[in-house]
Amino acid sequence: MDIHEYQAKEILTNFGVDVPPGALAYSPEQAAYRARELGGDRWVVKAQIHAGGRGKAGGVKVCDSDSEIQSTCEELFGRKMVTHQTGPEGKGVYRVYVEGAVPIEREIYLGFVLDRTSQRVMIVASAEGGMEIEEISAEKPDSIVRATVEPAVGLRDFQCRQIAFKLGIPPAQTQNMVRTLQGCYRAFREHDATMVEINPLVVTSDNRILALDAKMTFDDNALFRHPQISELRDKSQEDPRESRAADRGLSYVGLDGNIGCIVNGAGLAMATMDTIKLAGGEPANFLDIGGGATPERVAKAFRLVLSDSNVQAVLVNIFAGINRCDWVAEGVVQALKEVQVDVPVVVRLAGTNVEEGQKILANSGLPVIRASTLMEAAERSVGAWKNDITQTNRMRAVT
Ligand code: GDP
Ligand code: MN
Repeated sequence: MDIHEYQAKEILTNFGVDVPPGALAYSPEQAAYRARELGGDRWVVKAQIHAGGRGKAGGVKVCDSDSEIQSTCEELFGRKMVTHQTGPEGKGVYRVYVEGAVPIEREIYLGFVLDRTSQRVMIVASAEGGMEIEEISAEKPDSIVRATVEPAVGLRDFQCRQIAFKLGIPPAQTQNMVRTLQGCYRAFREHDATMVEINPLVVTSDNRILALDAKMTFDDNALFRHPQISELRDKSQEDPRESRAADRGLSYVGLDGNIGCIVNGAGLAMATMDTIKLAGGEPANFLDIGGGATPERVAKAFRLVLSDSNVQAVLVNIFAGINRCDWVAEGVVQALKEVQVDVPVVVRLAGTNVEEGQKILANSGLPVIRASTLMEAAERSVGAWKNDITQTNRMRAVT
């Protein structure tokens, strides 16, 4: 789960990371009022969306008066902001953060990530801040400083001093940098984060070290033990299809095609999507019902996929190891009886209780197109989608 910049800054502040003074606003009037409250004569207005690249997309504006703040915010509020991280549909701006502007001397990149190869938290830093890390690694790979944290002892101060030295932090600021790095690391560990990114971390001309931007991502599987983090969720920033699925305990990734996929396991989902593409189609989503899915869960998955108006055919592909084909078949039958389905449904079952599953489908009297291999299933769903009656014997379900 992602959170907003202002939320990440609040968390990091509690761990001793310095940030510029700032305040959140939900309207242009409130933004101008907040700026007056903060004081000073220069502010930065920042659109709060769950994506980076706002600076280049016009979502970060320096303003010199409250009327300028007001007019900047009138442009921002309600707009769908498209950055290189949002996808073409963009993300809605419903909150802005107003910050006192700071005199930047140097911009540094700082990130904490989970490195799966070393199975450690890894610190990635570069003196070339202000650029995205992808750009830095393509253009200035030698500038990147890395350090891994031994979990038994945690991040050591000497490692922080080494990083500060390699980044060329002024000696008078070394201790400050150590505190910043330690703060980020503790915030990362104590909240089960998977990423903390500060880009840029700045050294100001009056020699302070401040986090000017902050992003945090959390491990969804650990959210149950961090209720205060779960509360920061902002559904306005999520794909509505994915939020609906998450609320129902299903994992769903929305895509742009028109064949809905109900699959068990991420690996099989990948293979299914590849096969659909090979057969000339485009998947509309990736829905993983997981292991041990009950008929009710399968029915829920079905309803979810069908609620997406892009879906013009559904492919159910189950390899039942922990799952049971008969339960999946029952779920399909249940869903088709409850929901008005006017798109073709192709089902391929393999594994535990496959014969019972096939029997349930055959005896249901419902127009389910059955397939025995994945390739066949993909071809039939693509064929059905293209409305190729002779190939698939397409029928419409009437409930
Ligand atoms: P992002 O583009 O979504 O990563 O948004 P950032 O918060 O990183 O802002 C983009 C850029 O705006 C930063 O790299 C800074 O150069 C600039 N910026 C942000 N805050 C300030 C500020 O307080 N003062 C000044 N002068 N520039 C700022
Ligand atoms: Mn940034």
